[in-house]
Amino acid sequence: MRAIYPGSFSPPTLGHLDIIRRAAKLFGEVVVAVLSQSEKRYLFSLEERKDMLRRILIGVPNARVVSDTGLLADVAKREGADVILRGIRDASDLPLEMQMAAANRQIGGVDTVFLVCSPEYSLLSSSIVRDCARHRAPIAGMVPPEIVNDIYAACLRDVGL
Ligand code: ADP
Repeated sequence: MRAIYPGSFSPPTLGHLDIIRRAAKLFGEVVVAVLSQSEKRYLFSLEERKDMLRRILIGVPNARVVSDTGLLADVAKREGADVILRGIRDASDLPLEMQMAAANRQIGGVDTVFLVCSPEYSLLSSSIVRDCARHRAPIAGMVPPEIVNDIYAACLRDVGL
């Protein structure tokens, strides 16, 4: 079975990596899909997010990274995904996730499966990482070491330094 794991990954965190590693044991292949919604402004370009994911997934041979600006249902179809995979941090993630799962099933005929995140990452999000990095606070326990410098560099660039 091939799962597609979509997200913004701006930036990828240890929580994302944990989900991908666990999913890689459950599925034959995990396609990590970096998506951009046109109306949103991102700290990292699509290419930068893809590159960070590629570097942190070197040790996961059955994970592959793609990027797209289109509709998830179309990307899932193009990649031949059997299921969409999403991570759940707590109950507050559920209403929106259930809505998206229903929409993707309706328009793409593809089911969504959820993995519950490991408790140590349940309070972690990409936006917390961005806020900490902007204020030069340590982010070592939040993201893989290979991408710490990329994140600080992007924050400096963002404030025009
Ligand atoms: P999106 O903007 O689509 O929610 P994210 O990059 O924030 O994209 O998240 C991608 C996926 O990873 C989502 O399923 C999200 O619930 C999950 N996720 C986010 N943070 C964590 C975490 N700390 N632990 C586990 N899963 C997470």
